[in-house]
Amino acid sequence: MLKDSDRIFGDDLHEECGVFGVFGVDDAANLSYYGLHALQHRGQEACGIVAADDRGELHVVKGEGLVTEVFNQSNLSTLGGSMAIGHVRYSTTGGGGMLNVQPFVFHHFTGDFALAHNGNLVNSRELTHYLEMRGSLFHSTSDSEILAHLIKKENNESHRIFAIIDALNMLEGAFAFLIMTRNRIYACRDKYGLRPLAIGRLGNGYVVSSETCAMDIVGAEYIRDIEPGEIVTIDSHGIRSRDYSQYKRHCMCAMEYIYFSRPDSDIEGCNVHAFRKQTGRLLYKEAPVEADVVIGVPDSSLSAAIGFSEASGIPYEMGLIKNKYIGRTFIQPSQQMREKGVRMKLSAVRSLVKDKSVVLIDDSIVRGTTSLRIVRLLKEAGAREVHVRIASPAIKHPCFYGVDMSTHDELLCAYRSKEQAREAIEADSLEFLSEEALLEAGRRSELCMACFNGRYMTDLYRNAEQTDRDKNC
Ligand code: SF4
Repeated sequence: MLKDSDRIFGDDLHEECGVFGVFGVDDAANLSYYGLHALQHRGQEACGIVAADDRGELHVVKGEGLVTEVFNQSNLSTLGGSMAIGHVRYSTTGGGGMLNVQPFVFHHFTGDFALAHNGNLVNSRELTHYLEMRGSLFHSTSDSEILAHLIKKENNESHRIFAIIDALNMLEGAFAFLIMTRNRIYACRDKYGLRPLAIGRLGNGYVVSSETCAMDIVGAEYIRDIEPGEIVTIDSHGIRSRDYSQYKRHCMCAMEYIYFSRPDSDIEGCNVHAFRKQTGRLLYKEAPVEADVVIGVPDSSLSAAIGFSEASGIPYEMGLIKNKYIGRTFIQPSQQMREKGVRMKLSAVRSLVKDKSVVLIDDSIVRGTTSLRIVRLLKEAGAREVHVRIASPAIKHPCFYGVDMSTHDELLCAYRSKEQAREAIEADSLEFLSEEALLEAGRRSELCMACFNGRYMTDLYRNAEQTDRDKNC
């Protein structure tokens, strides 16, 4: 997934995926379609749904493209039954195309099963080697397939829940997994709680989703978040919980709140819009500035911009307008066209910024190329000054948990002082939010902030080099 401002200019920040599951509700696949549509922001490259029919046979439809491109009345009608899991995916380079599109379906003499994964395993190379030495043949280059091999390779004789628990305990990294068999769904989160996963009720059945916004869309009622280190079994007996790990942290990825999740989602009891608005208020408290107008980078920075405006009393204006109707197939302006001033995706409202001192609020800075372009855009529209305020700390380290922040070299702030970063983006001033303020905004004692401070939750097993397998979610 691309960061909004990066999407605007075609820069390259990738994110994870989204999962959605339905148990015990008629037309489960149709509901999954709507659920996945609500999670589309988490991955636009590919998507899929696996449904179990009344005899427990698994049927799959998946493909590359948006939810509305992959599914239609005709192929959804092949997915009958009251149980389904779905996935939206964003992959990185060389990801193997269709082979890596989830959910995966596995055939085994003990019973077929399907699997969908959001996150990234940091010990995938070690586990792949371990499994291949024991005869496993991988069909994809996605680390998501590892769990299936572990479940079946290690514990053929075990009861399935114990096989899954043993397998989960071999994984290191970030994950939210949905596993569907012929008669139940297992939903589990990593023991650090890095990726979100929540469960809701719909009639006599249940839904499980990466974000609560998808529950609202299908009319489900939120019950609770699945806990770190927990595996929830959903079947005709209802829902049952087990801890597969005694070690538990509540280190939700801070970027879920800052940028990735939809503002109408609640994550672990905190609404994403409310969180962002509070970061805007705290940003003003930590880095005040005198200015005429507050402008947010659409869309993910607007909540923080509103909060900054409320705290400062400086009026909030829609000074940047995003063209929402540019599809993926739109022909991007060439360098020559760009030099002629062709900017299809974002424009500044000249009458709002001309001769004004502007506070520009953005949720984060990754490479800085986008920030530079927006600062220039505002100045070309007549802004007298542009003061950049970032509603998160400076990103200085890569992410190994499913967000492709590439290498240190590509991060604006990895090796630059704040003053050097300010110069690079041609802003009149530049300030970031503190880590303490992030925790305060979410009323939390813990968050993963490893891309800000380098304190990773897990061993990394190797340094910054990552294989394609690692980067697939
Ligand atoms: S390193 Fe950053 S992007 Fe990655 S999981 Fe932690 S907070 Fe999220």
